[in-house]
Amino acid sequence: MLTLIFGSLSLLGLAITSLIKPAEAPASEVPQKTEEETTEETDTETPEENTDEFLADSGGESREGWEIFSDTGSLLLLANKKHPLPEGYEPSDLREPNVPMVYGSAPLRDEAASALEEMFAAAANDGVTLILGSGYRSQEYQDQLYSGYSAEYGWEVADTISSRPGYSDHQTGLAADISDHDGATYLTQDMEYAPEGIWLKDHAHEFGFIMRYPKGKDAVTGYAYEPWHFRYIGRDYAAAVWNVDEFYTFEEYFGVEGGDYN
Ligand SMILES: [Zn+2]
Repeated sequence: MLTLIFGSLSLLGLAITSLIKPAEAPASEVPQKTEEETTEETDTETPEENTDEFLADSGGESREGWEIFSDTGSLLLLANKKHPLPEGYEPSDLREPNVPMVYGSAPLRDEAASALEEMFAAAANDGVTLILGSGYRSQEYQDQLYSGYSAEYGWEVADTISSRPGYSDHQTGLAADISDHDGATYLTQDMEYAPEGIWLKDHAHEFGFIMRYPKGKDAVTGYAYEPWHFRYIGRDYAAAVWNVDEFYTFEEYFGVEGGDYN
């Protein structure tokens, strides 16, 4: 049932995307205007110890360390171009955050949804209006998106604007694309200069979110700068990553491989 519902939403989303794309993203600009997709979820983690041990012991080779990033019960569940999610993974605790949305639906895992609600409320207190764009995307929907881009532009271009199915951060249920109040810079790198983008860069970590694809880190993350895409990893980890520097990455902090597909 859940699958059917999300399948329908996915189709709806695709239809909306099709309607919007021509106007906002000419073929030549698609790479900068679209974002990858994936989402995941996780819940529990033990902030410092597991990871520090992992980094100290193995530098990424330890099976025990690596499992943290493959564990669907961990907030550190990793999706990048070197590390796909478990086949067909779908979080079991998705819900719609109670916040304004661009498309009317953007499910997130429960903990991430609660954190996002708090974050939006805090932004509003600072006079900044955030709108939620996309949340969870199923592998099936990702397949439709990627296939569509591939058919239209070829896979080399498709890989620059969309994740392959199973590799999207949005499939974790822990990733959110966030728009400025009027959508003027949404899904564009100009969001960096919008009040909403500035607020998110400075404060998202306080609510457990990190900018997943920071500026200048394309080779590390495998994606161009996406000032609108935030990933929930819990407050302790998010603060730790942000404290290194505001454009530090998941891959760098946790010592996991990223970059392009193999
Ligand atoms: Zn995104």
